[in-house]
Amino acid sequence: MSTRTYNTIIIGSGPAGLTASIYAARANLKPLCIEGFSAGGLIPGGQLMFTTDVENFPGFPEKVGGSDLMQRMRDQAERQGTEFVTADVTKVDLSKRPFKVWTDEPEPYLAQTIIIATGARANYLGLESEDKLKNRGVSACAVCDGALYRGQDVAVVGGGDTAMEEATYLAGVVGSVTLIHRRDEFRASKTMQVRVLANPKIKVLYSHVVVEVLDVAKGEVTGVRVKDLKTGETRVLPVKAMFAALGHTPNTDLFRGQVELHDNGYMKTKPGTTQTNIPGVFAAGDVQDWTYRQAITAAGTGCMAALESERFLAAEGAH
Ligand code: NDP
Repeated sequence: MSTRTYNTIIIGSGPAGLTASIYAARANLKPLCIEGFSAGGLIPGGQLMFTTDVENFPGFPEKVGGSDLMQRMRDQAERQGTEFVTADVTKVDLSKRPFKVWTDEPEPYLAQTIIIATGARANYLGLESEDKLKNRGVSACAVCDGALYRGQDVAVVGGGDTAMEEATYLAGVVGSVTLIHRRDEFRASKTMQVRVLANPKIKVLYSHVVVEVLDVAKGEVTGVRVKDLKTGETRVLPVKAMFAALGHTPNTDLFRGQVELHDNGYMKTKPGTTQTNIPGVFAAGDVQDWTYRQAITAAGTGCMAALESERFLAAEGAH
């Protein structure tokens, strides 16, 4: 239990939260990072914990495991002086300072500034077989995992911009892509659709849904069972991976009604900064970015949030 007031509390411990922690600690803000606890809420280490190999984070030419990378960032943040609490945030009060942040304890943590780095979670179809094969061929990130299926046949599910982007990216890496969409038209922007439809390595299956991912018994993806919604027929497409491109959901529920959100639920920040509508509350990483969604960009905005937080406190003469 703590009633201590921190200069800065960082909520979330993905690349954004941990980079913010490193910078805030180095600025001598003595930050507290509430790193999340349960897979249902925030996950310590964030989405990268579900990624096997990370091959695009600069500085790791031999690739690095997602959880290994996050552990290194966490060690670095701790060594610089960040205090960690492993708990889910249950409630916040950002109506006045010091801001209040509750976990499962009755007393809130208090903070002069807050960095929200709660990230986003990928949407999946919700099939049991899909869940069992996550990270064994079921992925929601082509840039992260596509290279594991070099030269193989894969499926992408979805019909939005992400699906187009994932399919196009994968077509440059894998043998062939089957894009499966539940309706007979895409919601994606025309330009991105045109790119997909012109790509000879991408085949589109309209009006189809995935009803099962195979093969749970083998512990790897060997195909997807699809259903043609027009005829009701099912068949198996032999693929080595299935990429869900069904959109993401930002973890902003905790802040709804307090911090201004975009219509799509992502947190609003002033362009070129990490400032939210509340002075002293900053947002970094995927919780405010639905365009890039990369570990490196999340880390970049985490750095910005810590620097802005420090400047905010310095301008008040509080630090
Ligand atoms: P969207 O919500 O736009 O698309 C999700 C897609 O998944 C839809 O086609 C939807 O089908 C389908 N879907 C959802 N649930 C299911 C389900 N249970 N079964 C089958 N299909 C399902 O998400 P995106 O991630 O594509 O895009 C999010 C936002 O980010 C958009 O505003 C987009 O424009 C933007 N974006 C922009 C990019 C860019 O400009 N470079 C790149 C990526 C995203 P249906 O269409 O039938 O509803």
